[in-house]
Amino acid sequence: MKVLVLGAGQLARMMALAGAPLNISISAYDVNSDSIVHPLTQQNLGKGLANAIADADVVTAEFEHIPLPVLAQCQQSGKFLPGETAIKAGGDRRLEKQLLDAAGVHSAAYHIVNSEVDFNAAISKLGLPLVFKSALAGYDGKGQWRLKQAEHTAALWQEISAFLAADSSQAIVAEQFIPFQREVSLIGARNRQGEVQVYPLTENHHVNGVLSASLALPGNEQLQQQAQQMFTAVANQLNYVGVLAIEFFDVNGKLLVNEIAPRVHNSGHWTQQGADVCQFEQHLRAVCNLPLGSSSLVRPSLMVNILGEDTVPEQILAIPGLHLHWYGKTKRAGRKMGHINVSGATTAELKARFETLISLLPEQAFPELAQMAARLN
Ligand code: AMP
Repeated sequence: MKVLVLGAGQLARMMALAGAPLNISISAYDVNSDSIVHPLTQQNLGKGLANAIADADVVTAEFEHIPLPVLAQCQQSGKFLPGETAIKAGGDRRLEKQLLDAAGVHSAAYHIVNSEVDFNAAISKLGLPLVFKSALAGYDGKGQWRLKQAEHTAALWQEISAFLAADSSQAIVAEQFIPFQREVSLIGARNRQGEVQVYPLTENHHVNGVLSASLALPGNEQLQQQAQQMFTAVANQLNYVGVLAIEFFDVNGKLLVNEIAPRVHNSGHWTQQGADVCQFEQHLRAVCNLPLGSSSLVRPSLMVNILGEDTVPEQILAIPGLHLHWYGKTKRAGRKMGHINVSGATTAELKARFETLISLLPEQAFPELAQMAARLN
C-alpha cells in the first residue's frame, strides 16, 4: 500500500517507521515547500502533489493547518481519510465548536467574536475570566489572550481588533475560563465499518503551554467511560476514519473537551512502547482498511518531550524500559526534537526508572518532571 501524508514532520516520520513492517510505504507532502519528500530523509522525491495523489492508494494528514485548495484537491481524489471536514474542524475553532455541539459533547461555553459588539456580548454572556483564542492557526497556546479583570477590557479589545484587522479570514472564539484540575487526552481509532478502539486516558503536563510529558493512566474506569463516550460521539458525527485525539479538561471528575486533533497526537507517543499496537500503526491500519489492532496497555508507560535540545546524556539508554526517539530535525529553541518513552512492569518500577531518568537529565531543559513523577503511585 502507498500512503501520501499531508505534512512532513515527525508524525509522518513515525508513521513511515510503523508502516514499513506492513509493507505500507509513506511519502509526505511538505506544505511549506509545496513538494513531495521522503518522510525520513526529507529528500525531495521530484513529483508534484497531483502525481503523488494519483500514485497513492490512500491520502491522509499529520497536521490540520493545510491550505484549503490542497484539502479540496485531496478530497476530490476520493482517497482522503479522515477527509476534508475532519481536518478543517481541527484547524478552525469555530468549526470545532460547531462539531462538538452537533455531537452533543460538553466543552467550555463560548461566543464567536468578529466585532466589538461581539466582544462585549461575549463578556456579558460568559462573564470573567475569559480566554480568547484565534479561530485559525492556533496551537500550543499560541494566539490566545486572557481577560481576568474588567479594567483591562479596552486594552485587550485594542489588541484583538488589530489582530482581526490584519487577517480578514480570522475570528476569535471567546471561551469561559475552566478551573480544571488537570488535562487528559484520549487517543483512539475508528475504521470504515465504524468500529472504535481507544487507548487508556493519558494525563498531560504542559510547561509554558507546550506538552512536556504524558502519562498513560490505566484504572480510572469512570473517567475512561466518559471519555470514550465523547470520543465515539465526535468520531461518529464526522464518520471519522483514522486516529483521532481529543484533549479534555478534568473538572472534579467531569470531562469537558478542550480541543480535537484529527490525527495521531504527541500525547499518544507512549503507545510505541506501552500499547499492543501503537497509534501510528493503528492510524495506517484504519485508513488502509486493515483490521484495527488491540489498543490495550501492555505496561505502565510515559513520554517526555525533548524540546530545543539535540543531545541527551547517553547514559539514559542504560535505563531498562527506556526508548529514545529522535526526529532528525535541526535544533531550534523550543522545537520538538524528539521524545523519550519509559515503561515498567508495574507503576512502582516505572516510577523508579523515571526518577533515574530525571536525575540524569539537565533540569533546565527538562523542567517540572519531578512533579509528574510524584503523581505516579
Ligand atoms: P489550547 O491551544 O486550546 O489547547 O490551549 C492551550 C492551553 O491553554 C490549554 O492546554 C490549557 O492549559 C489552557 N486553556 C485553554 N482553554 C482554556 C479554558 N477555556 N480555560 C482554562 N484554560 C484553558
